[in-house]
Amino acid sequence: MPIIDTHSHIFLEEFDADRQGVVERAAKAGINYHIFPNIDSSTSDRLLKISGESKNFYPLMGLHPTSVNSNLEEELKHVEKMLSTNTFWGIGEIGMDLYWDKTYIEQQKVAFRHQLKLAKKFKLPVAIHARNAFAEIFEIVDSEIDENLRGVFHCFTGTIDDYKRITGYKTFKVGIGGVVTYKNGGVDKLLPYMDTSLLLLETDSPYLSPVPMRGKRNEPFNLTYIVAKIAEVLGYSEQKVKEITFANAVELFNLPIM
Ligand SMILES: [Zn+2]
Repeated sequence: MPIIDTHSHIFLEEFDADRQGVVERAAKAGINYHIFPNIDSSTSDRLLKISGESKNFYPLMGLHPTSVNSNLEEELKHVEKMLSTNTFWGIGEIGMDLYWDKTYIEQQKVAFRHQLKLAKKFKLPVAIHARNAFAEIFEIVDSEIDENLRGVFHCFTGTIDDYKRITGYKTFKVGIGGVVTYKNGGVDKLLPYMDTSLLLLETDSPYLSPVPMRGKRNEPFNLTYIVAKIAEVLGYSEQKVKEITFANAVELFNLPIM
């Protein structure tokens, strides 16, 4: 059963020295498909170049919230131009991050709302990054939600109430990554209450390595630990976890694979 890493940044320079080995190691474990959310205009060229190297790589276009600054207008124009001239499978990575820095909170809101509108215009799903910003994000999604707005809250680390807000939209899924293996991450406790038809697998490589690789550079192969943990928590076979999450990812991103 193949696996889709629905959120990985192995197109970044952290993997320039050994990308092929990383992809092969993942493939041996069945992780054959990779979705690449963009960061900003400085990473677009390498995103397109590396995505072009395999039909199993699916690029998303977007402006990451931690790259939002006073350059906002130019960056958003770049996103729209890229969307009009290339094939992308979604808009990402977008959202809000108030953990490190709140300097550009207003710009982050503008960028997030603008890219939700682009998603509706281009009829593409969104990959949302939410860090210390669920309230702000929900307020904006609430005012933009319609049948054309759908996507994933990537690397979900919220509360049961946040989860319920997300399911209330009816068109959003939740990405489960390395945090599910963390002792105090909380995600393993919420997992049994989640609708399995909403779960996606992701690594967020090179970030958020699961136990027992925590602290090291993350890579798609490490989804094996995440699958094992989900199977253990839910009392499912790993095969069942793979089947369910594969179908969910294909459906959300409209991937041309069976
Ligand atoms: Zn990411």
